[in-house]
Amino acid sequence: MVKKLGAMEPELLKNLTKKRATVLYPFEKIELPEAYRGLWSFDINKCTGCGLCFKDCPSGAIELKPTEKTKAGRYPINYVNRCMFCSQCQEVCPTGAIQMTPVYELSDYKKKIIDAEAPEGYRYEE
Ligand code: SF4
Ligand code: SF4
Repeated sequence: MVKKLGAMEPELLKNLTKKRATVLYPFEKIELPEAYRGLWSFDINKCTGCGLCFKDCPSGAIELKPTEKTKAGRYPINYVNRCMFCSQCQEVCPTGAIQMTPVYELSDYKKKIIDAEAPEGYRYEE
C-alpha cells in the first residue's frame, strides 16, 4: 500500500496546486455552453402544426393535440419526463417554434408537460 501511494505521489502533488474540477452545486453553478439543450420552450404562434417534430422525436416525448391556433389544426406538447434533450425537434422544426432553453433544474414530484394551451405554458400529468 505504501509503495502504491509512493507511485501516486507525483500525481497527487501536481493536482494539489490545480484548480478543483467540481463546483459546490447548488451553491455554485457552472456557466453553460451557448448551445446547451435544456427544457423545451414552444411558441404556438410560430407553429403550423406540420407534425415534423412529432415524427422525428426518438423517445416519444411529443404528442399532437387539436387546436384552432395553427394552420393544420394541431400543435405539439412535450412530456418532459420522456424527453432526452437531443434537440432533434428544434432542428427539424421549419418555423423555429421549438427552442431548447438553458433550464436544467427539472426535478419535480409530478410529471410535467409543456403545453402551450395550459395557463402557464405547462401542466402536470393527471
Ligand atoms: S429534444 Fe429530442 S427527445 Fe426531447 S422532444 Fe425533442 S426530439 Fe424528442
Ligand atoms: S415541427 Fe414546428 S411547426 Fe411543425 S408541428 Fe412541430 S413545432 Fe409546429
